[in-house]
Amino acid sequence: MLQMTCLCGRVRLRVAKRPEFIHACNCTLCAKAGARWGYFHPSEVEIAGETRGYCREDKADPAAEVHFCGRCGTTTHFTLTPSAVAKFGDVQGG
Ligand SMILES: [Zn+2]
Repeated sequence: MLQMTCLCGRVRLRVAKRPEFIHACNCTLCAKAGARWGYFHPSEVEIAGETRGYCREDKADPAAEVHFCGRCGTTTHFTLTPSAVAKFGDVQGG
């Protein structure tokens, strides 16, 4: 069991197991979000607390929505956009 929180503690994530690997994505969005991702099916992740989301506005069809705590700004996870789910199936990073 892994439990993670944002800096202020308002957003909490819980997964049953460690990720298979950690991805240090070097795209502009992930670099600026300060993210290192583990990948899970959404059914494997419990998220409590409110997040805000951001999709790249410079992409016609962005694949990911990055979520962050609206209070402290910590990046918490990403979800795939409906368009990406239709193309690739669903996965979630946290
Ligand atoms: Zn917070």
